[in-house]
Formats: sequence, structure tokens, C-alpha cells
Amino acid sequence: MTEIQQTREKVRIRPDIAAMEHYTPTASLEVFSERLGRPINEIVKLDANENPYGPSAGALAALADLRGVVNIYPDPESRKLRALLQDYVGVSAGHILVGAGADELIDLILRLFIAPGDGVINCPPTFGMYEFDAALVGAQMIAVPRRADFSLDVPAIEAAAHEHDARLLFLCSPNNPDGGLIAPDVLDRLLALPLVVVLDEAYAEFSGTASFAVRVPHTPNLIVLRTFSKWAGLAGLRAGYGIFPLDLMAHLWKIKQPYNLNVAADAAARASLQDLPALQANVQRIISERERLERELAAFPFLQPYPSRSNFVLCRVEGLAAADLRTALEAEGVLVRYYNKPGLRDHIRISAGTPQQTDALLAALRKVLADHQV
Ligand SMILES: *Cc1c(COP(=O)(O)O)cnc(C)c1O
Repeated sequence: MTEIQQTREKVRIRPDIAAMEHYTPTASLEVFSERLGRPINEIVKLDANENPYGPSAGALAALADLRGVVNIYPDPESRKLRALLQDYVGVSAGHILVGAGADELIDLILRLFIAPGDGVINCPPTFGMYEFDAALVGAQMIAVPRRADFSLDVPAIEAAAHEHDARLLFLCSPNNPDGGLIAPDVLDRLLALPLVVVLDEAYAEFSGTASFAVRVPHTPNLIVLRTFSKWAGLAGLRAGYGIFPLDLMAHLWKIKQPYNLNVAADAAARASLQDLPALQANVQRIISERERLERELAAFPFLQPYPSRSNFVLCRVEGLAAADLRTALEAEGVLVRYYNKPGLRDHIRISAGTPQQTDALLAALRKVLADHQV
């Protein structure tokens, strides 16, 4: 046995992590560019709900002027950004914690509440990070699948909450990947359960409905998550935030990494909040394009789009394999999301992009229609 093997015998990694499956995030544009033999600027990327218009001019200007900032650690309390968020969200800054994307806050919430074996309810199909981060803290995942129309199975959630003494329930509205909303009366019913409800509103700005964030200060078991990644075009910088009941904030401050929001993300996020009209105009453009997608996709015999209140459209694929459709579109330089997961194997999700990107997608779909004779 080598010395390294001897050490590994003695110091083993956690068995639950050793047994974990690999998580495969979508490949980078560079990887696709090489695989498809196309330059990056000819690839139509509609697979990750990113904002095709990018950051606002103000955010770009802030990023271009980080001299004197980059060499200094950021404010661990992100006070300037939280003061702006107070006005944007309508909840006092004391309730707001910012992080390196909403993803970081999902992780922090699980660390705050979950010891190994504690129950966490997840309602798949939904955003994958709840399950991913819950596994890292050794949570007992309790899956309560959605109905065929992707609505929540409320009685099943209630039964599971009581049966497993669950601590947390992850909800997403509009839900990723279908774009459906949670109705206020459904949320009320779930808030009556003896657990903490984490409501992910990553796509709130596209939904045309009011955020539930304003309810947090008088709802002891509600946490709302938001992000700059989608509506403000800052996905690559990692800036998200959560709105928490006050009594939780004291404990979150203790466990968060002191400099979790980097200075570039902080500057761009603040500039975005001071550039709202331009960003909201982009949001409107994206919503129009989503509506166009819903109409145009329904005309293809092999696609059944679901109504969406977000910046993407989920489609059931009929008459050909969804994975093959994804591959055929990829060959045309159009990237869409395919999930090899229960409940989603015959679906693809398409992000709403620019009108030109929709044109390219529709042209690629017409080619698939002609080639496959479906
Ligand atoms: C994209 C997305 C996020 C991730 O937000 P980040 O701020 O980029 O970490 C969170 N929740 C849902 C549902 C998402 O689709």
C-alpha cells in the first residue's frame, strides 16, 4: 500500500459524499462552440434562462470603474445594496441578506435548519439546487411530486409534512421549469404547516404578480429568495438575496462567509437598482418574446407548450424523443434545456431570448419538422 493509500484508509471522505452522483451543470459556451464547430456568437443559447440583453448600461459602467475597490474587502454587511433593496422590495433592510446568488442562500438556509436526517420536502419537477444542497447537509429528502399540470399536490405535502416531521418546504413561483405560479390561498395553506416555507421567486420580475416578500415581516415561517441573475442580467456575477423573518437574521449573520458578495457583484447590483427603467424595458421585451414563443411553439405538431409566467417555456414533446429534439436543435446551433429526470424526460425547456433568437429557434424547429416528417 502506498503512503497515500494508507492515509486514505485512515482519513476517509464522508460515505454519503463518496456515494453521491455527479451533478452535471450545462456546458459552457466555449465547450458548445468546440463541439458544434460554430463560433460562440453564432450559438443561440436558450438553455439557462439567461438575460439576452445583458446588464444595464449603469451596471456595465460600474463594472468598468472598480479601481480603488477591487483591492479592498467588501462590506460584510453590504449595507449600501441592502438599503437600495429595502426600497425595491418594500421590506426593511434588517430582513434582507445578500449572497453569491440565490444559490448561496439555499445552502445557508439548509445549514441553518438541517442536521443529518432532518426532513426537507421538495416538489419535483422543480429547481435542482434544493435537492443538491439538501444532500450536502445530509437531509432526508421527501419528494412530493407535482401533478401532471405541474401544480402542487397540497394534500400530499400536508400529509408528508406531518408523517416525516419535516423542517423545510422548498417552493418556487414561478416554478422552474414550467413557469407556473403558486396562488395566494395555496401558499396560505402551506404556511399553516409546522415548518419553514422557502419560496424561491428568482423569476418574480417576469411574473406580472406581486411578490410575497412583503409578507415576510409578519409571517414567522416564510423566507423569500430573489436574484439579480435573470431580470438584471447578472448571472455571471452571482448576486442574490433573501428576505427573512428578523429572528433568523441574527443567526444567518453568524454563519455566512464574511465577504460572500464580491465587490463587482455588489457594484453591478447597486447600479442595476438605479437603472430600473432600462432593465424593466428589457423585462417587457423578454415577456413579449415569451408570449410569442407560447403562440408559435403551439403550432408545431410535436410540441405542447405549458402556459408560463416566467422567461422560459416548457414543452412536452410528442412523436419524437425530447433528447433527440434537443440534439437536432443543437446541430442547428440552438441550445435548449433537456432533463433526463422523472416527469421531464419527454420535455424541453426553452428560454425567451431576443426576437432574432426566436426567429433562429423557429427556423431550426421547421427544419426538424421537415427532416423528421413528424
Ligand atoms: C436561476 C435560478 C436560481 C439561481 O439564482 P442565482 O442567484 O443565479 O444563484 C434560483 N432559483 C431558481 C428557481 C432559478 O431558476
